[in-house]
Amino acid sequence: MVKRVYNFFAGPATLPFSVIEEASKNVLEFENLGFSILEISHRAKEFDNVIKQAQKDVKELMGLGDDYHVLFLQGGASLQFHMIPLNLMGSGKPALYINTGAWSKKAIKESQLLNKENTKVVASSEDKNFSYIPKDFTLDKNASYLHITTNNTIFGTEYHYIPETGDVPLIADMSSDILSRKLDFKKFALIYAGAQKNLGPAGTTLVVIRDDMVKRCENKTLPTLLNYKTHVDKESLFNTPSVFAVYVVHLVLKWIKEEMGGLENVEKYNRKKADLLYSAIDEMSDFYRGTAEKDSRSLMNVTCRLPNEELEKKFVSEAAERDLIGLKGHRSVGGIRASIYNAFPYEGVEKLVDFMKEFRKNN
Ligand SMILES: *Cc1c(COP(=O)(O)O)cnc(C)c1O
Repeated sequence: MVKRVYNFFAGPATLPFSVIEEASKNVLEFENLGFSILEISHRAKEFDNVIKQAQKDVKELMGLGDDYHVLFLQGGASLQFHMIPLNLMGSGKPALYINTGAWSKKAIKESQLLNKENTKVVASSEDKNFSYIPKDFTLDKNASYLHITTNNTIFGTEYHYIPETGDVPLIADMSSDILSRKLDFKKFALIYAGAQKNLGPAGTTLVVIRDDMVKRCENKTLPTLLNYKTHVDKESLFNTPSVFAVYVVHLVLKWIKEEMGGLENVEKYNRKKADLLYSAIDEMSDFYRGTAEKDSRSLMNVTCRLPNEELEKKFVSEAAERDLIGLKGHRSVGGIRASIYNAFPYEGVEKLVDFMKEFRKNN
């Protein structure tokens, strides 16, 4: 047996141990082929089966039909910040953004780099240090798209509704809450997520794109690799993908389907973990101060402050001594952050709550 600590890091993050075991076997030898998954050609039929199955599973879990395409790209969610306006912003048709935190800001910046006047921030929660999800925004019906960040990894807020955008395509960065709950995924024209938070190891980025968005890229003169159409036409095998990362994502998708029993159960499990942790924060609110407004609280990243920074430091280091690691908040906001993605075990949250009680009593 290997030693497993409770890993609260925001990403790369904890993965199901059964997936790690399966992957490690196949690192030694992949499916009795006499070579490792690390050595396989991306053109081999055995890998083709892996990526096709992963694409199929994403669609199945999201309830999407053949008008959607599933891609595994490189460059992280950060490259998507630029690829989206590059491919999908039309001239004179503004690209709309809702600013809910650091990652939204980066997406906005990349759009502004392409066309400042055509990039419009239609709502923002920056007035209250990104502690909530704005409810109202003005929708320009002529817009190219509206972009949102469904879960704000750093500030610990999450959309609990899907903005109504009529005919304006809705685009979402779901890097930190992808496949963590049931959603009407058909409401989105494009969904993207770096794999390293909720879906697998670092190295690949999931992009789910609808036909009408692909059409928009058809006549664009863009670098080949930056055009969505290139990847859709070649079913995500235009060039060498991150073979190992895609393989592990495939195992995680299988885990969601077979071991967890689908998204409904994943959501139940995530709610149970988040409820336990938020209840603890609320019950000890004289000591732990939640930073997100209650109706915007994230099920994935739970953030709070302690009475002072000295205590926050002490909390993080004493927790680590109990094998509860990665609890330091993002350097831009401070405080404590517990990332409890799909694969994070309930027992780890129980351990954290016990430690929180003890720490409050002793300090
Ligand atoms: C982590 C994160 C990103 C950045 O992803 P990279 O793959 O490192 O580029 C973008 N958006 C959100 C919401 C994130 O949590």
